[in-house]
Amino acid sequence: MAQLTGPRVHDTGVVSRQAVLPDPPDLWSYSSLKDVETCPRRYALSRAAYPQLWEQPGYPRLPITAAIRGDVVHGALELIVKALVNAGCTSTRSAEAVAVLRELGGYTKVAETSLARQLARLDGNPRLGTARREQLARQLTDGLPQVRVQIQTYLNRMELRPSAGRQSGSPPSRPAVRYPARVGDHPEKVLVADSLRLMGRIDLLSVDATGVQITDFKTGAEDPTHHDQLQIYVLLWREDSLSNPKGLAVLKLVAAYPSRDIAAAVPSAEELTALCTQLTTKIDAADAAVAAEVPAAIVGDHCSMCNVRGVCDAYWTTGLKATADVAEGTWYDLAGTVLRNHGVRSIVLLESLTNAEVLVRTPTPSYAVPVERNVRVLGARRVVDPDDPDSLVAALTSVSEVLELA
Ligand code: SF4
Repeated sequence: MAQLTGPRVHDTGVVSRQAVLPDPPDLWSYSSLKDVETCPRRYALSRAAYPQLWEQPGYPRLPITAAIRGDVVHGALELIVKALVNAGCTSTRSAEAVAVLRELGGYTKVAETSLARQLARLDGNPRLGTARREQLARQLTDGLPQVRVQIQTYLNRMELRPSAGRQSGSPPSRPAVRYPARVGDHPEKVLVADSLRLMGRIDLLSVDATGVQITDFKTGAEDPTHHDQLQIYVLLWREDSLSNPKGLAVLKLVAAYPSRDIAAAVPSAEELTALCTQLTTKIDAADAAVAAEVPAAIVGDHCSMCNVRGVCDAYWTTGLKATADVAEGTWYDLAGTVLRNHGVRSIVLLESLTNAEVLVRTPTPSYAVPVERNVRVLGARRVVDPDDPDSLVAALTSVSEVLELA
């Protein structure tokens, strides 16, 4: 691992958002490696500490409804599968399974519980106002019938393997306390390849006497890159001698999408060796990228969805589009100096990129925008005034953010 020199404080230039950058982690995962490859700065700023902003680790996330819905499905499946396996059910359609589900309160109740857990994770998030939180809770609650159908669809396709011994209530969250996987189904199974410094959390590991099946639940669209992740899980299973002391082989790999299961090819021993070499190189590169004094920023199309773009100076100096070039109705970001208030629900901003005046409409009269200060505006919507189509107008909504520069 790269030599560490102690905490690195990075001044993001935004008021109350000084970042204490993280060191490379003890263990990498498929998603964290992918994150660093896409943009080391994003990895570092996402996982930095922001003591002036809040006490929790990382930069607070702006919630995305679809992502939370996916997490609700995952959480509900984990809860139900664990209960069914513990009760010795072999089919989700058996009388025993129906009784277990009834005891859990039914699909809707489980989905509600899973949703409540996800919403609780948003508590204390300084980027989430009360109005937005309530709106989000409403949207997610309204979507529960579809979530319920998705959970049922996954479960109806699932063959269960009863556990050879009753499992504890929840799987270990720390890899340090991992355990040998006995015959049966293991939701959210953590695997670690110590020699590689790599870990993964498998959605469903199904073990029988002859080998295992690995299933990854995917709530989004089908994507061939999902197979890369499954291949890494095979390597982890082979390398994790604590979880797999008998060296059982992987017999089947499944990417389970809402509408169908897709079987992925199980890599051969030679392919796994090549994967191992590839990952060693990637991990060395990721260590060096994260340990850099200021991790490199890779500006690109992905920046528009980046959760930390508000505190990334590289994005604000090279990644912006001028308001004049933004099409009507498009969401975009802009930066500038607040010149003056314009009525009770608008301000005039001198756009830094062009030195043009942009009229920015705020959602409420009390919306706080500091006059004569430099600001970054995230998530504005381009508006064209039919009475004055040449004027530059943008509108803020409940999901927009205004960050004041120091
Ligand atoms: S805004 Fe772009 S360049 Fe900046 S951290 Fe995010 S992904 Fe990287």
